[in-house]
Amino acid sequence: MRPRSAVAATLEQPPDADTVIELRSVCRTFDAEPPVRALQDVELTVRRGEHLSIVGPSGSGKSTLLNTLGLLDRPTSGSYWLDGVLTNALGDLERTALRGSRIGFVFQSFHLLPYRTVEENVTLAETYRAPRPGRGRSTRAERAREALVQVGLGHRCGFLPGRLSGGERQRVAIARALMGEPALLLCDEPTGNLDTENTDSVLALFDELQSQGMTLLVITHDDAVSRRASRRVRIRDGRLSQETV
Ligand code: ADP
Ligand code: MG
Repeated sequence: MRPRSAVAATLEQPPDADTVIELRSVCRTFDAEPPVRALQDVELTVRRGEHLSIVGPSGSGKSTLLNTLGLLDRPTSGSYWLDGVLTNALGDLERTALRGSRIGFVFQSFHLLPYRTVEENVTLAETYRAPRPGRGRSTRAERAREALVQVGLGHRCGFLPGRLSGGERQRVAIARALMGEPALLLCDEPTGNLDTENTDSVLALFDELQSQGMTLLVITHDDAVSRRASRRVRIRDGRLSQETV
Protein backbone atom coordinates (compact mmCIF):
# COMPACT_ATOMS: atom_id res chain seq x y z
CA MET A 1 0.00 0.00 0.00
CA ARG A 2 1.19 3.50 -0.81
CA PRO A 3 1.51 5.67 2.33
CA ARG A 4 -0.02 9.11 2.00
CA SER A 5 2.38 11.82 3.00
CA ALA A 6 1.63 14.60 5.48
CA VAL A 7 2.00 17.03 2.59
CA ALA A 8 -0.77 15.30 0.64
CA ALA A 9 -2.95 15.33 3.74
CA THR A 10 -2.65 19.11 4.13
CA LEU A 11 -4.33 19.48 0.74
CA GLU A 12 -7.44 17.69 1.99
CA GLN A 13 -10.76 19.32 2.74
CA PRO A 14 -11.23 19.78 6.50
CA PRO A 15 -14.30 18.20 8.07
CA ASP A 16 -17.14 20.54 9.12
CA ALA A 17 -17.23 22.28 12.51
CA ASP A 18 -19.50 19.65 14.08
CA THR A 19 -16.95 16.90 13.57
CA VAL A 20 -14.76 16.20 16.60
CA ILE A 21 -12.89 13.19 15.16
CA GLU A 22 -12.26 12.25 11.59
CA LEU A 23 -9.96 9.40 10.58
CA ARG A 24 -9.35 8.94 6.86
CA SER A 25 -7.79 5.67 5.69
CA VAL A 26 -5.77 5.38 8.87
CA CYS A 27 -3.31 2.49 9.07
CA ARG A 28 -0.95 1.66 11.92
CA THR A 29 1.59 -1.03 11.24
CA PHE A 30 4.04 -2.17 13.90
CA ASP A 31 7.49 -3.22 12.80
CA ALA A 32 7.75 -6.86 13.70
CA GLU A 33 8.50 -10.07 11.86
CA PRO A 34 5.99 -10.33 10.22
CA PRO A 35 4.68 -6.71 10.51
CA VAL A 36 1.49 -6.29 12.58
CA ARG A 37 -1.25 -4.34 10.85
CA ALA A 38 -3.01 -3.13 14.01
CA LEU A 39 -5.25 -0.61 12.17
CA GLN A 40 -6.24 -1.13 8.55
CA ASP A 41 -7.83 1.62 6.45
CA VAL A 42 -9.86 2.93 9.35
CA GLU A 43 -12.52 5.51 8.48
CA LEU A 44 -14.28 7.06 11.45
CA THR A 45 -16.26 10.24 11.94
CA VAL A 46 -17.48 11.26 15.39
CA ARG A 47 -19.82 14.22 15.60
CA ARG A 48 -20.00 16.68 18.46
CA GLY A 49 -22.28 15.41 21.21
CA GLU A 50 -22.17 11.78 20.07
CA HIS A 51 -21.67 8.88 22.46
CA LEU A 52 -19.83 6.21 20.51
CA SER A 53 -18.81 2.80 21.78
CA ILE A 54 -16.09 0.62 20.33
CA VAL A 55 -16.23 -3.10 21.01
CA GLY A 56 -13.84 -5.82 19.93
CA PRO A 57 -11.94 -8.85 21.18
CA SER A 58 -8.51 -8.74 22.74
CA GLY A 59 -5.80 -7.94 20.21
CA SER A 60 -8.23 -6.38 17.73
CA GLY A 61 -6.63 -2.91 17.84
CA LYS A 62 -8.68 -1.07 20.47
CA SER A 63 -5.70 0.31 22.39
CA THR A 64 -3.89 1.22 19.19
CA LEU A 65 -6.99 3.13 18.08
CA LEU A 66 -7.33 4.87 21.44
CA ASN A 67 -3.63 5.80 21.48
CA THR A 68 -3.96 7.20 17.99
CA LEU A 69 -7.08 9.22 18.86
CA GLY A 70 -5.42 10.43 22.07
CA LEU A 71 -2.37 11.64 20.13
CA LEU A 72 -0.16 9.21 22.02
CA ASP A 73 0.70 7.38 18.80
CA ARG A 74 0.82 8.38 15.13
CA PRO A 75 -0.76 6.63 12.17
CA THR A 76 1.65 4.98 9.74
CA SER A 77 -0.52 6.45 6.98
CA GLY A 78 -3.82 8.24 6.60
CA SER A 79 -4.97 11.45 8.24
CA TYR A 80 -6.44 12.32 11.61
CA TRP A 81 -8.46 15.50 12.14
CA LEU A 82 -9.18 16.41 15.76
CA ASP A 83 -11.63 19.26 16.38
CA GLY A 84 -10.78 20.84 13.03
CA VAL A 85 -7.01 20.42 13.35
CA LEU A 86 -5.07 18.13 11.03
CA THR A 87 -2.80 16.38 13.52
CA ASN A 88 -0.47 14.62 11.08
CA ALA A 89 1.92 17.47 10.51
CA LEU A 90 2.08 18.64 14.13
CA GLY A 91 5.24 18.31 16.20
CA ASP A 92 5.32 16.68 19.62
CA LEU A 93 4.88 19.93 21.58
CA GLU A 94 1.86 20.95 19.50
CA ARG A 95 0.37 17.49 19.89
CA THR A 96 0.82 17.66 23.66
CA ALA A 97 -0.84 21.07 23.77
CA LEU A 98 -3.72 19.89 21.57
CA ARG A 99 -4.18 16.78 23.73
CA GLY A 100 -4.26 18.88 26.90
CA SER A 101 -6.83 21.31 25.54
CA ARG A 102 -9.17 18.90 23.69
CA ILE A 103 -9.04 15.47 25.30
CA GLY A 104 -9.96 14.10 28.70
CA PHE A 105 -8.84 10.53 29.42
CA VAL A 106 -10.71 8.03 31.60
CA PHE A 107 -9.16 4.63 32.29
CA GLN A 108 -10.20 1.36 33.85
CA SER A 109 -8.19 2.07 36.99
CA PHE A 110 -8.98 5.41 38.50
CA HIS A 111 -5.39 6.52 39.29
CA LEU A 112 -6.40 8.58 42.30
CA LEU A 113 -3.84 9.55 44.94
CA PRO A 114 -4.95 7.79 48.16
CA TYR A 115 -3.71 10.41 50.64
CA ARG A 116 -5.17 13.41 48.82
CA THR A 117 -8.76 14.49 49.15
CA VAL A 118 -11.19 14.13 46.28
CA GLU A 119 -10.94 17.85 45.60
CA GLU A 120 -7.12 17.79 45.63
CA ASN A 121 -7.10 14.85 43.24
CA VAL A 122 -9.18 16.84 40.77
CA THR A 123 -7.19 20.05 41.30
CA LEU A 124 -3.89 18.28 40.70
CA ALA A 125 -4.98 17.45 37.15
CA GLU A 126 -4.25 21.04 36.21
CA THR A 127 -0.87 21.41 37.81
CA TYR A 128 0.92 20.33 34.66
CA ARG A 129 -1.41 21.94 32.18
CA ALA A 130 -0.90 25.40 30.72
CA PRO A 131 -3.56 27.84 31.97
CA ARG A 132 -6.16 28.75 29.39
CA PRO A 133 -6.99 32.38 28.61
CA GLY A 134 -10.18 33.63 30.25
CA ARG A 135 -10.01 31.18 33.13
CA GLY A 136 -8.07 33.42 35.46
CA ARG A 137 -11.02 34.58 37.54
CA SER A 138 -12.00 31.34 39.19
CA THR A 139 -9.34 29.47 41.08
CA ARG A 140 -8.35 25.91 40.40
CA ALA A 141 -10.06 24.79 43.60
CA GLU A 142 -13.29 26.51 42.54
CA ARG A 143 -13.19 24.83 39.15
CA ALA A 144 -12.46 21.47 40.80
CA ARG A 145 -15.52 21.89 43.02
CA GLU A 146 -17.62 22.79 39.96
CA ALA A 147 -16.41 19.66 38.15
CA LEU A 148 -17.25 17.57 41.23
CA VAL A 149 -20.74 19.07 41.37
CA GLN A 150 -21.09 18.23 37.67
CA VAL A 151 -20.40 14.53 38.39
CA GLY A 152 -22.72 14.55 41.41
CA LEU A 153 -20.00 14.52 44.07
CA GLY A 154 -20.15 18.06 45.39
CA HIS A 155 -20.75 16.63 48.86
CA ARG A 156 -17.59 14.46 48.78
CA CYS A 157 -14.91 17.12 48.19
CA GLY A 158 -13.11 16.53 51.49
CA PHE A 159 -13.25 12.73 51.43
CA LEU A 160 -10.25 10.51 50.81
CA PRO A 161 -10.75 8.20 47.79
CA GLY A 162 -10.63 5.10 50.02
CA ARG A 163 -13.96 6.07 51.58
CA LEU A 164 -15.75 6.16 48.21
CA SER A 165 -17.42 3.39 46.25
CA GLY A 166 -15.83 2.30 42.96
CA GLY A 167 -18.42 4.20 40.96
CA GLU A 168 -17.77 7.35 42.97
CA ARG A 169 -14.02 6.98 42.43
CA GLN A 170 -14.52 6.69 38.69
CA ARG A 171 -16.73 9.79 38.80
CA VAL A 172 -13.88 11.64 40.55
CA ALA A 173 -11.58 10.51 37.73
CA ILE A 174 -14.15 11.82 35.25
CA ALA A 175 -14.29 15.17 37.11
CA ARG A 176 -10.51 15.30 36.83
CA ALA A 177 -10.77 14.65 33.07
CA LEU A 178 -13.35 17.46 32.78
CA MET A 179 -11.04 20.04 34.38
CA GLY A 180 -9.35 20.77 31.04
CA GLU A 181 -12.77 21.54 29.48
CA PRO A 182 -12.14 18.91 26.80
CA ALA A 183 -14.08 18.60 23.56
CA LEU A 184 -13.93 14.84 23.91
CA LEU A 185 -13.73 12.16 26.60
CA LEU A 186 -11.75 9.08 25.57
CA CYS A 187 -12.62 6.21 27.89
CA ASP A 188 -10.77 2.88 27.95
CA GLU A 189 -12.86 0.21 29.71
CA PRO A 190 -14.21 2.80 32.18
CA THR A 191 -16.44 0.27 33.94
CA GLY A 192 -13.99 -2.63 33.80
CA ASN A 193 -13.41 -2.55 37.57
CA LEU A 194 -17.02 -1.89 38.58
CA ASP A 195 -19.98 -4.02 39.60
CA THR A 196 -23.36 -3.56 37.96
CA GLU A 197 -24.65 -0.92 40.37
CA ASN A 198 -21.52 1.22 40.10
CA THR A 199 -21.44 0.71 36.34
CA ASP A 200 -24.97 2.12 36.23
CA SER A 201 -23.94 5.25 38.10
CA VAL A 202 -21.11 5.88 35.62
CA LEU A 203 -23.41 5.22 32.65
CA ALA A 204 -25.97 7.64 34.09
CA LEU A 205 -23.21 10.24 34.29
CA PHE A 206 -22.24 9.58 30.65
CA ASP A 207 -25.89 10.22 29.66
CA GLU A 208 -25.85 13.44 31.66
CA LEU A 209 -22.57 14.63 30.12
CA GLN A 210 -23.84 13.81 26.65
CA SER A 211 -26.99 15.84 27.29
CA GLN A 212 -24.70 18.75 28.17
CA GLY A 213 -23.03 18.42 24.76
CA MET A 214 -19.94 16.36 25.63
CA THR A 215 -18.61 13.93 23.03
CA LEU A 216 -17.83 10.47 24.41
CA LEU A 217 -15.87 7.62 22.91
CA VAL A 218 -15.97 4.51 25.07
CA ILE A 219 -13.99 1.33 24.54
CA THR A 220 -15.62 -1.60 26.29
CA HIS A 221 -15.96 -5.36 26.47
CA ASP A 222 -19.32 -5.04 28.18
CA ASP A 223 -22.40 -5.33 25.99
CA ALA A 224 -24.58 -3.51 28.50
CA VAL A 225 -22.16 -0.57 28.40
CA SER A 226 -21.92 -0.46 24.62
CA ARG A 227 -25.70 -0.59 24.26
CA ARG A 228 -25.96 2.72 26.12
CA ALA A 229 -24.03 4.50 23.38
CA SER A 230 -25.85 6.34 20.60
CA ARG A 231 -23.73 4.44 18.06
CA ARG A 232 -21.73 1.26 18.22
CA VAL A 233 -18.66 0.40 16.20
CA ARG A 234 -16.98 -2.99 16.13
CA ILE A 235 -13.28 -3.57 15.59
CA ARG A 236 -11.82 -6.84 14.41
CA ASP A 237 -8.27 -7.42 13.13
CA GLY A 238 -7.77 -3.68 12.92
CA ARG A 239 -10.85 -3.06 10.78
CA LEU A 240 -13.90 -1.09 11.87
CA SER A 241 -17.48 -1.92 11.07
CA GLN A 242 -20.51 0.11 12.08
CA GLU A 243 -23.44 -1.42 13.87
CA THR A 244 -26.94 -0.25 14.45
CA VAL A 245 -27.67 -0.24 18.18
P1 ADP B 1 -6.50 -4.53 21.96
O1 ADP B 1 -6.34 -3.27 22.76
O2 ADP B 1 -7.77 -4.59 21.17
O3 ADP B 1 -6.32 -5.74 22.80
P2 ADP B 1 -4.01 -3.67 20.69
O4 ADP B 1 -4.34 -2.38 20.01
O5 ADP B 1 -3.29 -3.59 21.98
O6 ADP B 1 -5.34 -4.57 20.83
O7 ADP B 1 -3.13 -4.56 19.69
C1 ADP B 1 -3.50 -4.80 18.33
C2 ADP B 1 -2.44 -5.68 17.66
O8 ADP B 1 -1.21 -4.98 17.55
C3 ADP B 1 -2.13 -6.94 18.48
O9 ADP B 1 -1.87 -7.99 17.55
C4 ADP B 1 -0.88 -6.58 19.23
O10 ADP B 1 -0.12 -7.72 19.51
C5 ADP B 1 -0.17 -5.67 18.25
N1 ADP B 1 0.66 -4.64 18.91
C6 ADP B 1 0.26 -3.68 19.76
N2 ADP B 1 1.29 -2.89 20.13
C7 ADP B 1 2.38 -3.37 19.48
C8 ADP B 1 3.76 -2.98 19.43
N3 ADP B 1 4.21 -1.93 20.12
N4 ADP B 1 4.58 -3.70 18.66
C9 ADP B 1 4.14 -4.78 17.94
N5 ADP B 1 2.86 -5.18 17.94
C10 ADP B 1 1.97 -4.49 18.70
MG1 MG C 1 -6.10 -3.04 24.82
